[in-house]
Order: sequence, then structure tokens, then C-alpha cells
Amino acid sequence: MSKLSIRDLPLNDNRIFMRVDFNVPLEDGRVMDDTRIRETLPTIEYALRHGARLILASHLGRPKGKPNPKMSLKPVAERLRMLLDKELARGENVGFCPECVGREAEEVATQLEKGQTLLLENLRFHAEEEANDETFARQLANLAEYYVNDAFGTAHRAHASTVGMTKFVKLSAAGLLMEKELKYLGKALEHPEEPFVAILGGAKVGDKIGVIQNLMNKVNSLIIGGGMAYTFLKAQGHEIGKSLLEADKIDLAKQLLAEAKKRNLKFLLPVDHVVALKPEANAVVQQIGEGQPIPADKMALDIGPKTIELFSEEISRARTIVWNGPMGVFEVPGFSRGTFKVAHAVAENAGAISIVGGGDTVAAVHAADVADKMTHISTGGGASLEFLEGKKLPGVEALTNKK
Ligand code: AMP
Repeated sequence: MSKLSIRDLPLNDNRIFMRVDFNVPLEDGRVMDDTRIRETLPTIEYALRHGARLILASHLGRPKGKPNPKMSLKPVAERLRMLLDKELARGENVGFCPECVGREAEEVATQLEKGQTLLLENLRFHAEEEANDETFARQLANLAEYYVNDAFGTAHRAHASTVGMTKFVKLSAAGLLMEKELKYLGKALEHPEEPFVAILGGAKVGDKIGVIQNLMNKVNSLIIGGGMAYTFLKAQGHEIGKSLLEADKIDLAKQLLAEAKKRNLKFLLPVDHVVALKPEANAVVQQIGEGQPIPADKMALDIGPKTIELFSEEISRARTIVWNGPMGVFEVPGFSRGTFKVAHAVAENAGAISIVGGGDTVAAVHAADVADKMTHISTGGGASLEFLEGKKLPGVEALTNKK
């Protein structure tokens, strides 16, 4: 069911409550990385250009339901003022309210004029936010007539500001960033151009089982690298030394491999490896060739050159690529090659729709300097994984259906 977009709302002169993801890193009251603020600027600008009285709300960090000055959104309001000033010469119109509900918030929200923006204090200073408390949700909804959600990264959580309050406003719509996420992720899962190749990596099989199971029904090839590959290799009877292993998932790994065979889908695992005693920058590194066992005292920390070739070839044939999870311990220089080479292989396939998700993978794509070559970089780690698992995201479900 498709959902209303901010473009469907009567913005002019109305108070719009927009849930954004301003969960940015702060240090000594300074915003250290404003990517998340900049990503939602198009939606903010759209609302302001159309005459909205805009009320922005977000969480920041984990204050556990209590006010904590270290997690105040005040520095974010300052940064937003600067950014909007550059874009629209409108910065002076960004106000900050030190409360997100209650008398003061209601007063400032009522006084807000057309084209003005108000950022509320951290929603999670109230335990009622994460508890999706109805009274709190009503208080948030009292601030505005219409609701927009542009915080895809929290759409998998049913909180007062992502779900609860939508019942108490006139209409609830997706912001432009949210819409873009749903468009790319949705299209990849519902109508992918084939061949559809999924690349999964990272540390834990347990976290990605749901994704593997759901994607098996949709992809032509499944590429598995990173630490999670070794539970599958163990299931196939390979010697994996001290590589990451989730022993309680071996049987499941066997079932998934059998299922892939039955469905005739390619299930690519590493065939050679870069190993060491530990994932340390100055570790002595050893290459383990195809068919060779991993020594009992060593861990596989990256995919080897043959695997890079195998994976890259598969990636080069794809028309749709979904990637979540690094191919090795890419944060440590000696073990980043596999992840970076895969990033380049995805980037070089200019004809494919490429969708990258997960904090580590997004960081790797930036570090490999190919972020601008990806069709879509998802802003929500957990939310994009749940989407790939085929789960319904409560923050999306709560939006008003298009007629
Ligand atoms: P995840 O959060 O499950 O996506 O895992 C990401 C983490 O997996 C990164 O911090 C990587 O360093 C780590 N990782 C990737 N490959 C390996 C590996 N072969 N052994 C240990 N850790 C790995």
C-alpha cells in the first residue's frame, strides 16, 4: 500500500510536525558530523518553501528517559541554522525549544510563523517516547496539524513520535528522504531487475538469518563474506581455525545451503582467505589458498584474491545489487582489501541499481571513495535490515495510506 508523501499535504500556513533523525555525534557541545542533518535538508526546505510552520523533533543518543545536557539538541539547532542560512538565507528563523512537550512547547509552536522552523529538545529525555505512551503521543500531536516522518533510521521502532502520535493528527506522510528509502528498497525487493545479487557480510550470522531467508526467495545469487561466512564454511566441513563461528547456527547454515541448492540459486562463499592470530594492524598476515585449511590457531579476517575475483565477476553481471556487511575486518588496514575491492566492483557496475545499507558498509563505501557511484545509500542500519527481512516497519505502516 503506498503512503502519503509530504507533497500530498496542505503545507501552506499549517503547523507540520516533522520527525527527523538528528542523532548526530556531539563532542563538547559541537556537532562532529552533520551528514544526517544535511540528508533531511531537502525535506525541510520543501516544507518551508511551501509555507509550513515547521516543528522538528528527534532523539539523540540514549539518555534513558531523563534530561541530560550532554545529549541536548541545542547544538544541532545551531548547525541547522547555519546550513539553512547557506541554502535559503533563512537560518535566523530556526528556533530551539528546551522542551518537546508541555506549555512552553505549545506556546512556541502556536507563535511560529509561516516559513519558520522550531527544533524541539531530545524526545528521549522522556521515557514515554520509547514506551509509545498515549498521553505523551497526544501532547506531541497537539503541537501541529499534520505529521511528516523523514527518520527512516527509526522507522523500525514503534515510539510515540514514530507511531503513537500519528493517530492524533489530521494526516501523516513520508518525507522526501523516507520516500527515497522506500522507493529504492521497495523496488529492489518487489520488482528487481535481474540478475539480482545480494552481498551479505559482517560479524554475525544470527543478525542476518532473517535477511538471508527472505532474500533467498528473490535473488539469483547470494554472496556471503566477512565473519559470518565461516559458520557456513564450517557447515560444509571446512577447517576454519579460530575464525568467527556461531556453533548453534551450524544446523541452520546447513539447511540454508540445502535450500539454496534446491532452488538452484548461487550461494557464493569465500574460497581463499587472509588470516592472522588477531585482527591487529601489525599482525603477521598469511594468505590461505583455495582448498587449504585455515591453521588451527589463526582467524580468517578478510577474503583472499581468488574470492575477490569470484565475487567481483558475479557483481559485474548484476542488474540489482543489495549490499549489507563488510567482507572482513575492514577497519584494520591489513584486512580492508576485500571490502574495498567489492566496493569498487559494485561501483564499476554502472548499469546496475546498487543499494548499500548498514553503518559499517556505508563507512566502507565512503572510505573506498565510491559513495557517489552507488544508486542509493540507506540512512537506516537496523531499519534497512528489517526491510530486507521482509518485515513491516511500524513507522511506515503508521503513515496515512494513499487513496
Ligand atoms: P555486523 O555489525 O554484523 O555487520 O558486523 C560488522 C563487523 O564485522 C565489522 O566491525 C567487521 O570488523 C566485522 N568483521 C567482518 N569480517 C570479519 C571477520 N572475518 N572476522 C571478524 N570480524 C569480522
